Amino acid sequence: VLPLDVERIRADFPLLSRTVHGKPLIYFDSANTSQKPLSVIEAVDRHYRQHNANVARAVHTLGEEATASYEGARDAIARFINASSRDEVILTSGTTQAINLVAYSYALPRLKPGDAILTTVMEHHANIVPWQLVAERTGATVKAAPIDANGDLILERFFEMLTPEVKLACVGHVSNVLGTVNPIREIARECRKRGIPLLVDGSQAAPHRRIDVQALGCDFYAITGHKMLAPTGTGALWARREHLMAMPPFFGGGEMIREVRFEGTVFADPPHRFEAGTPNIAGFAGMAAAIGYIEDLGYDRLKAYEQDLLAYATSAVENLPGVRIFGRAKEKEPVISFLIEGAHANDMATLLDLQGVAVRSGHHCAHPLMHFFGVPATLRASLAFYNTKAEVDGFIEAIGKVRKLLL
Ligand code: PMP
Repeated sequence: VLPLDVERIRADFPLLSRTVHGKPLIYFDSANTSQKPLSVIEAVDRHYRQHNANVARAVHTLGEEATASYEGARDAIARFINASSRDEVILTSGTTQAINLVAYSYALPRLKPGDAILTTVMEHHANIVPWQLVAERTGATVKAAPIDANGDLILERFFEMLTPEVKLACVGHVSNVLGTVNPIREIARECRKRGIPLLVDGSQAAPHRRIDVQALGCDFYAITGHKMLAPTGTGALWARREHLMAMPPFFGGGEMIREVRFEGTVFADPPHRFEAGTPNIAGFAGMAAAIGYIEDLGYDRLKAYEQDLLAYATSAVENLPGVRIFGRAKEKEPVISFLIEGAHANDMATLLDLQGVAVRSGHHCAHPLMHFFGVPATLRASLAFYNTKAEVDGFIEAIGKVRKLLL
Protein backbone atom coordinates (compact mmCIF):
# COMPACT_ATOMS: atom_id res chain seq x y z
CA VAL A 1 0.00 0.00 0.00
CA LEU A 2 1.38 3.42 -0.99
CA PRO A 3 1.77 5.58 2.13
CA LEU A 4 -0.59 8.49 2.45
CA ASP A 5 0.91 11.94 1.84
CA VAL A 6 -0.87 13.77 4.64
CA GLU A 7 0.43 17.23 3.76
CA ARG A 8 -1.06 16.92 0.29
CA ILE A 9 -4.28 15.63 1.77
CA ARG A 10 -4.45 18.53 4.22
CA ALA A 11 -4.12 21.00 1.38
CA ASP A 12 -7.45 19.63 0.07
CA PHE A 13 -9.24 20.68 3.28
CA PRO A 14 -9.36 24.49 3.43
CA LEU A 15 -10.74 24.63 6.96
CA LEU A 16 -7.79 22.75 8.44
CA SER A 17 -5.51 25.72 7.88
CA ARG A 18 -7.55 28.17 9.95
CA THR A 19 -6.72 29.28 13.46
CA VAL A 20 -8.93 29.21 16.56
CA HIS A 21 -8.22 31.69 19.38
CA GLY A 22 -5.03 32.56 17.56
CA LYS A 23 -3.79 28.96 17.62
CA PRO A 24 -3.54 26.57 14.68
CA LEU A 25 -6.68 24.42 14.71
CA ILE A 26 -6.34 20.82 15.84
CA TYR A 27 -9.60 19.26 14.72
CA PHE A 28 -10.17 16.05 16.68
CA ASP A 29 -13.95 15.93 16.33
CA SER A 30 -14.43 14.08 13.06
CA ALA A 31 -16.74 11.46 14.60
CA ASN A 32 -19.09 14.36 15.22
CA THR A 33 -18.77 15.67 11.69
CA SER A 34 -15.86 15.46 9.28
CA GLN A 35 -14.27 18.37 7.48
CA LYS A 36 -14.87 18.65 3.73
CA PRO A 37 -12.39 18.57 0.88
CA LEU A 38 -12.44 21.24 -1.84
CA SER A 39 -13.88 18.77 -4.35
CA VAL A 40 -17.01 18.44 -2.19
CA ILE A 41 -17.29 22.17 -1.55
CA GLU A 42 -16.87 22.81 -5.28
CA ALA A 43 -19.47 20.21 -6.24
CA VAL A 44 -22.06 22.00 -4.08
CA ASP A 45 -20.97 25.37 -5.46
CA ARG A 46 -21.11 24.06 -9.05
CA HIS A 47 -24.60 22.73 -8.53
CA TYR A 48 -25.95 26.12 -7.52
CA ARG A 49 -23.94 28.04 -10.11
CA GLN A 50 -24.59 25.77 -13.06
CA HIS A 51 -27.27 23.14 -12.60
CA ASN A 52 -29.77 24.31 -10.00
CA ALA A 53 -33.27 23.00 -10.68
CA ASN A 54 -35.64 20.56 -9.05
CA VAL A 55 -35.33 16.83 -9.71
CA ALA A 56 -37.56 14.36 -11.55
CA ARG A 57 -40.06 17.00 -12.66
CA ALA A 58 -38.90 19.37 -15.33
CA VAL A 59 -37.96 18.32 -18.86
CA HIS A 60 -35.80 21.39 -19.36
CA THR A 61 -32.03 21.06 -19.48
CA LEU A 62 -31.37 22.20 -15.94
CA GLY A 63 -34.00 19.82 -14.58
CA GLU A 64 -32.39 16.96 -16.45
CA GLU A 65 -28.92 17.90 -15.24
CA ALA A 66 -30.05 18.14 -11.62
CA THR A 67 -31.85 14.80 -11.90
CA ALA A 68 -28.82 13.16 -13.48
CA SER A 69 -26.62 14.49 -10.69
CA TYR A 70 -29.01 13.33 -7.95
CA GLU A 71 -29.53 9.89 -9.47
CA GLY A 72 -25.79 9.74 -10.12
CA ALA A 73 -25.25 10.10 -6.37
CA ARG A 74 -27.53 7.11 -5.86
CA ASP A 75 -25.36 5.12 -8.30
CA ALA A 76 -22.22 6.26 -6.48
CA ILE A 77 -23.63 5.21 -3.10
CA ALA A 78 -24.82 1.85 -4.47
CA ARG A 79 -21.31 1.17 -5.80
CA PHE A 80 -19.70 2.49 -2.61
CA ILE A 81 -21.56 0.02 -0.36
CA ASN A 82 -21.77 -2.72 -3.03
CA ALA A 83 -25.56 -2.82 -3.20
CA SER A 84 -26.79 -5.33 -5.75
CA SER A 85 -29.13 -2.70 -7.19
CA ARG A 86 -29.39 1.10 -7.14
CA ASP A 87 -33.09 0.67 -6.35
CA GLU A 88 -32.12 -0.61 -2.92
CA VAL A 89 -30.64 2.78 -2.01
CA ILE A 90 -32.97 5.37 -0.45
CA LEU A 91 -31.44 8.83 -0.17
CA THR A 92 -32.11 10.35 3.24
CA SER A 93 -31.02 13.33 5.30
CA GLY A 94 -28.73 11.08 7.33
CA THR A 95 -28.73 8.02 9.54
CA THR A 96 -31.39 9.38 11.85
CA GLN A 97 -33.89 9.61 9.03
CA ALA A 98 -32.81 6.25 7.64
CA ILE A 99 -33.38 4.48 10.96
CA ASN A 100 -36.69 6.24 11.56
CA LEU A 101 -37.81 5.15 8.09
CA VAL A 102 -37.19 1.51 9.06
CA ALA A 103 -38.84 2.07 12.45
CA TYR A 104 -42.05 3.51 11.00
CA SER A 105 -42.31 1.71 7.66
CA TYR A 106 -40.91 -1.68 8.57
CA ALA A 107 -41.18 -2.20 12.33
CA LEU A 108 -44.36 -0.32 13.26
CA PRO A 109 -46.75 -2.34 11.03
CA ARG A 110 -45.18 -5.64 12.11
CA LEU A 111 -44.70 -5.37 15.86
CA LYS A 112 -47.23 -6.84 18.27
CA PRO A 113 -47.45 -6.83 22.07
CA GLY A 114 -44.82 -9.19 23.45
CA ASP A 115 -42.46 -8.73 20.47
CA ALA A 116 -38.99 -7.34 21.06
CA ILE A 117 -36.28 -5.39 19.30
CA LEU A 118 -32.73 -6.26 20.26
CA THR A 119 -30.03 -3.62 20.30
CA THR A 120 -26.85 -3.10 22.32
CA VAL A 121 -25.75 -0.96 25.25
CA MET A 122 -23.23 0.93 23.10
CA GLU A 123 -25.72 2.42 20.62
CA HIS A 124 -26.16 6.05 19.68
CA HIS A 125 -29.59 7.41 20.65
CA ALA A 126 -30.48 7.36 16.93
CA ASN A 127 -30.41 3.56 17.17
CA ILE A 128 -32.38 3.43 20.43
CA VAL A 129 -35.06 6.11 20.54
CA PRO A 130 -36.83 5.29 17.23
CA TRP A 131 -37.23 1.70 18.49
CA GLN A 132 -38.58 2.90 21.81
CA LEU A 133 -41.12 5.08 20.00
CA VAL A 134 -42.46 2.22 17.89
CA ALA A 135 -42.29 -0.18 20.85
CA GLU A 136 -44.46 2.19 22.87
CA ARG A 137 -47.06 2.28 20.13
CA THR A 138 -47.14 -1.48 19.60
CA GLY A 139 -46.60 -2.97 23.04
CA ALA A 140 -43.24 -4.36 22.03
CA THR A 141 -40.09 -3.96 24.14
CA VAL A 142 -36.53 -2.88 23.44
CA LYS A 143 -33.77 -5.07 24.87
CA ALA A 144 -30.08 -4.19 24.95
CA ALA A 145 -27.25 -6.71 24.83
CA PRO A 146 -24.39 -6.02 27.26
CA ILE A 147 -20.77 -5.13 26.60
CA ASP A 148 -17.66 -6.00 28.59
CA ALA A 149 -15.34 -3.59 30.39
CA ASN A 150 -13.22 -3.21 27.23
CA GLY A 151 -16.25 -2.05 25.28
CA ASP A 152 -16.61 -5.22 23.23
CA LEU A 153 -20.08 -6.61 22.69
CA ILE A 154 -20.55 -9.84 24.65
CA LEU A 155 -21.45 -11.88 21.61
CA GLU A 156 -22.67 -15.00 23.41
CA ARG A 157 -25.10 -12.86 25.36
CA PHE A 158 -26.24 -11.12 22.19
CA PHE A 159 -26.90 -14.48 20.53
CA GLU A 160 -28.71 -15.81 23.61
CA MET A 161 -30.91 -12.74 23.54
CA LEU A 162 -31.94 -13.44 19.92
CA THR A 163 -35.05 -15.24 21.14
CA PRO A 164 -38.20 -15.90 19.07
CA GLU A 165 -39.89 -12.69 20.32
CA VAL A 166 -37.14 -10.65 18.69
CA LYS A 167 -38.47 -9.31 15.39
CA LEU A 168 -35.54 -7.04 14.53
CA ALA A 169 -31.93 -6.66 15.67
CA CYS A 170 -30.26 -3.22 15.46
CA VAL A 171 -26.51 -2.90 15.91
CA GLY A 172 -23.98 -0.18 15.29
CA HIS A 173 -21.10 -1.18 13.03
CA VAL A 174 -18.71 1.10 14.92
CA SER A 175 -19.35 2.83 18.26
CA ASN A 176 -19.13 6.63 18.14
CA VAL A 177 -17.84 6.71 21.72
CA LEU A 178 -15.58 3.68 22.01
CA GLY A 179 -14.54 3.10 18.42
CA THR A 180 -15.46 -0.57 18.89
CA VAL A 181 -15.94 -2.44 15.61
CA ASN A 182 -18.74 -4.98 15.92
CA PRO A 183 -18.43 -8.29 14.03
CA ILE A 184 -21.37 -7.66 11.74
CA ARG A 185 -20.85 -10.71 9.49
CA GLU A 186 -21.01 -13.04 12.47
CA ILE A 187 -23.98 -11.21 13.95
CA ALA A 188 -25.78 -11.28 10.58
CA ARG A 189 -25.14 -15.02 10.24
CA GLU A 190 -26.72 -15.73 13.63
CA CYS A 191 -29.66 -13.43 12.90
CA ARG A 192 -30.24 -15.14 9.54
CA LYS A 193 -30.23 -18.57 11.15
CA ARG A 194 -33.10 -17.43 13.36
CA GLY A 195 -34.90 -15.50 10.63
CA ILE A 196 -34.40 -12.16 12.41
CA PRO A 197 -33.70 -9.17 10.17
CA LEU A 198 -30.65 -7.08 11.09
CA LEU A 199 -30.28 -3.32 10.80
CA VAL A 200 -26.77 -1.89 10.97
CA ASP A 201 -26.03 1.73 11.90
CA GLY A 202 -23.00 2.41 9.73
CA SER A 203 -22.59 6.10 10.63
CA GLN A 204 -19.14 5.65 12.14
CA ALA A 205 -18.03 2.80 9.88
CA ALA A 206 -18.28 4.34 6.41
CA PRO A 207 -15.68 7.06 7.19
CA HIS A 208 -13.08 4.40 7.99
CA ARG A 209 -13.73 1.09 6.30
CA ARG A 210 -15.03 -0.38 3.08
CA ILE A 211 -18.69 -1.31 3.37
CA ASP A 212 -19.99 -4.30 1.44
CA VAL A 213 -23.62 -4.79 2.36
CA GLN A 214 -23.84 -8.06 0.45
CA ALA A 215 -20.80 -9.56 2.16
CA LEU A 216 -21.99 -8.32 5.56
CA GLY A 217 -25.27 -10.16 5.10
CA CYS A 218 -27.45 -7.66 6.95
CA ASP A 219 -30.94 -6.50 5.92
CA PHE A 220 -30.71 -2.73 6.43
CA TYR A 221 -27.62 -0.52 6.48
CA ALA A 222 -27.71 3.21 7.30
CA ILE A 223 -25.02 5.78 6.52
CA THR A 224 -24.72 9.50 7.07
CA GLY A 225 -22.87 11.69 4.60
CA HIS A 226 -21.56 14.42 6.85
CA LYS A 227 -19.24 12.09 8.77
CA MET A 228 -17.67 10.86 5.52
CA LEU A 229 -16.67 14.17 3.93
CA ALA A 230 -20.08 14.94 2.42
CA PRO A 231 -22.35 17.90 3.24
CA THR A 232 -24.72 17.81 6.21
CA GLY A 233 -28.23 16.63 5.43
CA THR A 234 -27.16 13.70 3.24
CA GLY A 235 -27.23 9.98 3.89
CA ALA A 236 -28.74 6.75 2.76
CA LEU A 237 -30.62 3.68 3.78
CA TRP A 238 -29.77 0.48 1.98
CA ALA A 239 -32.31 -2.31 2.36
CA ARG A 240 -32.94 -5.63 0.69
CA ARG A 241 -35.42 -5.21 -2.12
CA GLU A 242 -37.90 -7.68 -0.61
CA HIS A 243 -38.15 -5.50 2.52
CA LEU A 244 -38.52 -2.27 0.56
CA MET A 245 -41.25 -3.75 -1.65
CA ALA A 246 -43.21 -4.71 1.46
CA MET A 247 -42.81 -1.34 3.20
CA PRO A 248 -45.43 1.41 3.02
CA PRO A 249 -44.16 4.97 2.61
CA PHE A 250 -43.14 6.98 5.65
CA PHE A 251 -43.64 10.48 4.22
CA GLY A 252 -46.33 11.25 1.70
CA GLY A 253 -46.12 13.97 -0.91
CA GLY A 254 -44.77 14.69 -4.35
CA GLU A 255 -42.35 12.46 -6.19
CA MET A 256 -43.34 9.28 -4.38
CA ILE A 257 -46.52 8.34 -6.22
CA ARG A 258 -47.57 6.71 -9.44
CA GLU A 259 -51.12 7.99 -9.36
CA VAL A 260 -53.08 10.06 -6.86
CA ARG A 261 -56.87 9.84 -6.62
CA PHE A 262 -58.98 10.73 -3.62
CA GLU A 263 -60.30 7.15 -3.76
CA GLY A 264 -56.75 5.90 -3.24
CA THR A 265 -53.19 6.57 -4.28
CA VAL A 266 -50.77 4.19 -5.96
CA PHE A 267 -47.25 4.63 -4.68
CA ALA A 268 -44.11 4.60 -6.77
CA ASP A 269 -41.75 1.65 -6.49
CA PRO A 270 -38.70 1.90 -4.23
CA PRO A 271 -36.54 3.91 -3.97
CA HIS A 272 -38.77 6.87 -4.95
CA ARG A 273 -41.65 5.66 -2.78
CA PHE A 274 -39.57 6.76 0.21
CA GLU A 275 -38.34 10.10 -1.14
CA ALA A 276 -41.28 12.47 -0.92
CA GLY A 277 -40.60 16.14 -1.49
CA THR A 278 -37.57 18.04 -2.72
CA PRO A 279 -34.37 16.45 -1.48
CA ASN A 280 -30.96 17.95 -0.68
CA ILE A 281 -29.93 17.96 -4.34
CA ALA A 282 -26.81 20.08 -3.90
CA GLY A 283 -25.83 18.02 -0.87
CA PHE A 284 -25.94 14.82 -2.88
CA ALA A 285 -23.76 16.38 -5.58
CA GLY A 286 -21.35 16.84 -2.69
CA MET A 287 -21.86 13.30 -1.44
CA ALA A 288 -20.97 11.86 -4.85
CA ALA A 289 -17.79 13.97 -4.77
CA ALA A 290 -17.02 12.74 -1.25
CA ILE A 291 -17.30 9.14 -2.38
CA GLY A 292 -15.01 9.96 -5.30
CA TYR A 293 -12.49 11.43 -2.88
CA ILE A 294 -12.50 8.38 -0.62
CA GLU A 295 -12.31 6.00 -3.57
CA ASP A 296 -9.34 7.87 -5.04
CA LEU A 297 -7.58 7.77 -1.70
CA GLY A 298 -8.46 4.11 -1.15
CA TYR A 299 -9.56 2.56 2.12
CA ASP A 300 -6.36 0.48 2.35
CA ARG A 301 -4.19 3.58 2.57
CA LEU A 302 -6.65 5.42 4.75
CA LYS A 303 -6.91 2.50 7.18
CA ALA A 304 -3.16 1.91 7.45
CA TYR A 305 -2.61 5.59 8.17
CA GLU A 306 -5.48 5.95 10.65
CA GLN A 307 -4.59 2.80 12.58
CA ASP A 308 -0.99 3.99 12.94
CA LEU A 309 -2.23 7.39 14.13
CA LEU A 310 -4.65 5.73 16.57
CA ALA A 311 -1.85 3.61 18.08
CA TYR A 312 0.34 6.70 18.43
CA ALA A 313 -2.44 8.77 20.01
CA THR A 314 -3.53 5.94 22.32
CA SER A 315 -0.08 5.48 23.79
CA ALA A 316 0.26 9.25 24.23
CA VAL A 317 -3.08 9.50 26.04
CA GLU A 318 -2.29 6.41 28.13
CA ASN A 319 0.78 8.18 29.46
CA LEU A 320 -1.21 11.11 30.82
CA PRO A 321 -1.30 11.05 34.63
CA GLY A 322 -4.69 10.12 36.12
CA VAL A 323 -6.18 9.12 32.78
CA ARG A 324 -8.98 6.62 32.32
CA ILE A 325 -9.58 5.40 28.78
CA PHE A 326 -13.02 4.09 27.79
CA GLY A 327 -12.92 1.50 25.04
CA ARG A 328 -10.17 -1.05 24.59
CA ALA A 329 -11.93 -3.14 22.02
CA LYS A 330 -10.09 -5.81 20.05
CA GLU A 331 -10.77 -3.88 16.85
CA LYS A 332 -11.17 -0.10 16.94
CA GLU A 333 -11.61 2.86 14.65
CA PRO A 334 -9.70 6.04 15.57
CA VAL A 335 -11.74 7.28 18.52
CA ILE A 336 -10.35 7.76 22.02
CA SER A 337 -12.74 8.46 24.89
CA PHE A 338 -11.13 9.34 28.19
CA LEU A 339 -11.31 11.30 31.42
CA ILE A 340 -8.61 12.85 33.57
CA GLU A 341 -9.11 12.32 37.26
CA GLY A 342 -10.43 15.45 38.98
CA ALA A 343 -11.17 17.36 35.76
CA HIS A 344 -14.65 17.76 34.31
CA ALA A 345 -14.91 16.81 30.65
CA ASN A 346 -16.71 20.03 29.72
CA ASP A 347 -14.16 22.24 31.49
CA MET A 348 -11.38 20.37 29.73
CA ALA A 349 -13.01 20.74 26.32
CA THR A 350 -13.65 24.46 26.88
CA LEU A 351 -10.06 25.11 27.89
CA LEU A 352 -8.73 22.92 25.09
CA ASP A 353 -10.69 25.04 22.64
CA LEU A 354 -8.75 28.08 23.87
CA GLN A 355 -5.65 26.16 22.79
CA GLY A 356 -7.13 25.61 19.33
CA VAL A 357 -8.06 21.98 20.03
CA ALA A 358 -11.57 20.81 19.05
CA VAL A 359 -12.69 17.71 20.95
CA ARG A 360 -16.13 16.70 22.05
CA SER A 361 -17.19 16.40 25.65
CA GLY A 362 -20.46 15.08 26.97
CA HIS A 363 -22.56 11.95 26.71
CA HIS A 364 -22.15 11.64 22.92
CA CYS A 365 -25.85 10.77 22.49
CA ALA A 366 -25.15 7.49 24.28
CA HIS A 367 -26.71 7.77 27.75
CA PRO A 368 -26.97 4.00 28.32
CA LEU A 369 -23.26 3.62 27.56
CA MET A 370 -22.32 6.44 29.97
CA HIS A 371 -24.52 4.72 32.53
CA PHE A 372 -22.68 1.44 31.95
CA PHE A 373 -19.33 3.10 32.67
CA GLY A 374 -20.82 5.08 35.56
CA VAL A 375 -19.80 8.49 34.25
CA PRO A 376 -21.92 11.42 33.07
CA ALA A 377 -19.58 12.38 30.26
CA THR A 378 -16.26 11.69 28.60
CA LEU A 379 -13.84 13.63 26.46
CA ARG A 380 -13.59 12.23 22.98
CA ALA A 381 -10.78 12.76 20.53
CA SER A 382 -11.85 11.37 17.17
CA LEU A 383 -9.31 11.30 14.37
CA ALA A 384 -9.38 11.17 10.61
CA PHE A 385 -6.85 10.53 7.85
CA TYR A 386 -6.21 14.28 7.60
CA ASN A 387 -4.85 14.45 11.16
CA THR A 388 -1.16 14.11 11.98
CA LYS A 389 1.14 12.89 14.72
CA ALA A 390 2.28 16.49 15.16
CA GLU A 391 -1.34 17.36 15.98
CA VAL A 392 -1.44 14.52 18.50
CA ASP A 393 1.68 16.02 20.11
CA GLY A 394 0.02 19.45 20.13
CA PHE A 395 -3.10 17.95 21.69
CA ILE A 396 -1.10 16.27 24.46
CA GLU A 397 0.80 19.50 25.11
CA ALA A 398 -2.51 21.41 25.29
CA ILE A 399 -3.85 18.87 27.80
CA GLY A 400 -0.75 19.47 29.90
CA LYS A 401 -1.47 23.21 29.98
CA VAL A 402 -5.15 22.69 30.74
CA ARG A 403 -4.33 20.30 33.59
CA LYS A 404 -2.23 22.97 35.24
CA LEU A 405 -5.19 25.34 35.13
CA LEU A 406 -7.71 22.83 36.42
CA LEU A 407 -5.86 20.68 38.93
N1 PMP B 1 -25.39 6.74 14.81
C1 PMP B 1 -24.14 6.99 15.21
C2 PMP B 1 -23.27 5.87 15.67
C3 PMP B 1 -23.65 8.30 15.18
O1 PMP B 1 -22.41 8.55 15.59
C4 PMP B 1 -24.50 9.34 14.72
C5 PMP B 1 -24.02 10.78 14.68
N2 PMP B 1 -23.38 11.22 15.85
C6 PMP B 1 -25.79 9.02 14.30
C7 PMP B 1 -26.19 7.71 14.37
C8 PMP B 1 -26.75 10.05 13.81
O2 PMP B 1 -26.35 10.54 12.59
P1 PMP B 1 -27.09 11.79 11.93
O3 PMP B 1 -27.28 12.78 13.02
O4 PMP B 1 -26.14 12.22 10.91
O5 PMP B 1 -28.37 11.31 11.39
